[in-house]
Amino acid sequence: MLGILLAGSDPGSEIYVRNKIRTSEELGMASDLRRLSGTASLEEALAIVREFNASGSHDGILVQSPLPEAMGSDAERRVFDMIDPAKDVDGFNPVNVGRLVQNRPALAPCTPSGIIELLDREGVEIAGARAVVIGRSDIVGKPMAMLLLHRHATVTICHSKTVDLPAVASSADILVAAIGRAAFVTSDFVKSGATVIDVGMNRLTNRAQVEQLFGAGSGKLSAFDRRGSVVTGDVHPEVACVAGALTPVPGGVGPLTIAMLLANTIKAAEARR
Ligand code: NAP
Repeated sequence: MLGILLAGSDPGSEIYVRNKIRTSEELGMASDLRRLSGTASLEEALAIVREFNASGSHDGILVQSPLPEAMGSDAERRVFDMIDPAKDVDGFNPVNVGRLVQNRPALAPCTPSGIIELLDREGVEIAGARAVVIGRSDIVGKPMAMLLLHRHATVTICHSKTVDLPAVASSADILVAAIGRAAFVTSDFVKSGATVIDVGMNRLTNRAQVEQLFGAGSGKLSAFDRRGSVVTGDVHPEVACVAGALTPVPGGVGPLTIAMLLANTIKAAEARR
């Protein structure tokens, strides 16, 4: 069983948690959702984690990020630090992070480990490839770089202070964009034939911005006109003309991440038994 803590009412988090529960039900896996209000204290969140840790029936623990601001700026670290590493299906506890860095068996973060799975299943050669990861977050960029390194790619990590990002990115055979900026990666970032993985999930609610990014006759703009918002990745759709392969948003890395979360829960359940 997967124990889930959802605190506050962030609309994105509501959707992510709903999708995770729906997918686990489709696979016949039980989930236990606990909700806290946006004004709940950090101590209330920690108490739920302690209960999940002690439970014999909870195999995995997921704390949906972000936690409400009222819990304090270091709330996520405090909560992730408390999760039993054996039930840490997001792979955010420092024990699992350390194991990942040392290339020892670990529950690895779902988005990057799903990307490795995707590259393998698509037959993309990782060993010897030049890989560039844009973004250095603890949940995507850093573990992604580490997993690619363990598979013998030559890895460069880029961030907001990287000088001449397009030149660095366009050296990549495998380019991973985990930035959080809509359509930021354009064709000039991409080497012809490169494999491009778009991790970004950006909800646009401003019609003028959608038109400016994608053009007046674009599919994104007509989707916006139907729904009043549109989800887009960090990679501009024009990159499809240059890349050898490009993951779609929505429908690419997002569902893959959920699949890996459930795979990690099964791994944790089997290891505990
Ligand atoms: P994050 O913690 O905000 O990190 C963003 C990274 O991008 C930072 O390292 C930042 O650099 C870098 N960055 C920002 N602006 C940049 C610029 N102009 N040039 C170069 N680098 C820049 O974000 P995250 O949690 O890693 O998530 C990234 C995106 O992936 C978001 O859209 C998020 O919604 C999405 N995501 C999707 C999934 C999924 O399941 N599909 C899972 C997780 C995240 P600095 O470190 O220098 O600030």
